[in-house]
Amino acid sequence: METLVSLCAARGFIYPASEIYGGIAGFWDYGPLGVELKNNLKAFWWRRMVREREDVVGVDTAIISHPRTWEASGHVENFSDPMVDCRVCKRRFRSDQLEGERCPEAPKKRAVTDCDLTEAREFNLMLRTELGASVAESTTAYLRPETCQPIFSGFKRVRESARQKVPFGIAQIGKAFRNEITPRNFTFRSREFEQAEMEFFCHPSEREKWFEFWRAFRLQFHRDLGFDESLLRTRPHAPDELAHYANAADDIEFLFPFGWQEIEGIHDRGDWDLSRHSEYSGKELAVTNEQTKERFTPMCIETSVGIDRTTLALLVAAYTQQEMEDGEERTVMRFHPALAPIKAAVLPLSKKLAEPAKALNARLCGHFNTFYDEAGNIGRRYRRQDEVGTPFCVTYDFDSEDDGCVTVRERDTMNQERVPMEGITHYLRDRLEEAL
Ligand code: ATP
Repeated sequence: METLVSLCAARGFIYPASEIYGGIAGFWDYGPLGVELKNNLKAFWWRRMVREREDVVGVDTAIISHPRTWEASGHVENFSDPMVDCRVCKRRFRSDQLEGERCPEAPKKRAVTDCDLTEAREFNLMLRTELGASVAESTTAYLRPETCQPIFSGFKRVRESARQKVPFGIAQIGKAFRNEITPRNFTFRSREFEQAEMEFFCHPSEREKWFEFWRAFRLQFHRDLGFDESLLRTRPHAPDELAHYANAADDIEFLFPFGWQEIEGIHDRGDWDLSRHSEYSGKELAVTNEQTKERFTPMCIETSVGIDRTTLALLVAAYTQQEMEDGEERTVMRFHPALAPIKAAVLPLSKKLAEPAKALNARLCGHFNTFYDEAGNIGRRYRRQDEVGTPFCVTYDFDSEDDGCVTVRERDTMNQERVPMEGITHYLRDRLEEAL
């Protein structure tokens, strides 16, 4: 993890938010390469979950909802973790993550009996804010701890305006906030993060069928990201782990350097959310089957994946160190080409060739993210691109002027191929598309 965290900062993938002030726990910034990687992941999710499906539509809802939303959802009452404070070091911990009665910060030689931990208390994880100009008239609002609640409150509007009939789904990608007691493991547990969620509404008689369908569909998605089978597993929740409203839940887990951890949850939420919003808003959210005239509140199967956790998994899975024939080592980020932040680097063999190489880059950058680099010898430039996972390097050399060709070097095999410049856009696009 340490090597990866340093590489991420050095190459501008991810680094601490407010770094010059010493950072702020649980908040991270994505740099020029990180934002491309994350955007590619989100675009792929959107393509699979919304664009390629006739039965799913997308939305982008406000981060702040009417405060009643969180009463209806149960978050005001139940969305908490048990925490304890250490009276010696003044730090706060999740009591379910402690080993016995010991403060995790205490020196090893301190006796357990000398640790001074408070009783566990429930700590609500929602981040609060105040709305309104004056303190007296302000209203407490919450930054959403999950993106799905506004999907439920907007269910009727979306169903009617998009002319969808049950079964169908509503999807959204957006920020969520949780005041995690112990943010840790890089971006894995953050206080501000992104979720990509899809709520699929179906008839009560079909809930098991759709749960199974989405579980398999989502697992395949992670395989399509290029994750090896040995890094993925699913884990059903034991009955005592289930949220109070959930009928069934499966986690999709990834093998991080710090162990197997959840990256996505598939949940059968039953009719909990629609029923509660119906009760709290006084608005009817049931639907009618036009053929049978049966009236029912749909059941909901949710797929909820963390974009930041999956981005971290992509970085972990991509990282490789390789010994080369000449004895040198290279670091390669083996991102799936469709997810790689930079698709092609354009490199003039010599600075004298800058002008035509820049013209080539100008042609390519309208089609996909490219990077122009003329600094240093060509071997060093290849290494720099390997280290950020660029699948193709396109070199413009002294022959290019005469034969109208460039050399395309492939990241993983390091094979080189002479390709006519005229067809270079199609060539690269075909090879990028082959992958997905
Ligand atoms: P955990 O048990 O790890 O706290 P959770 O079960 O509370 O997670 P869900 O509420 O099911 O998580 O959220 C769905 C997804 O959102 C998770 O699978 C994860 O990828 C992401 N997620 C949740 N909390 C965080 C966080 N603090 N930081 C980053 N991603 C998160």
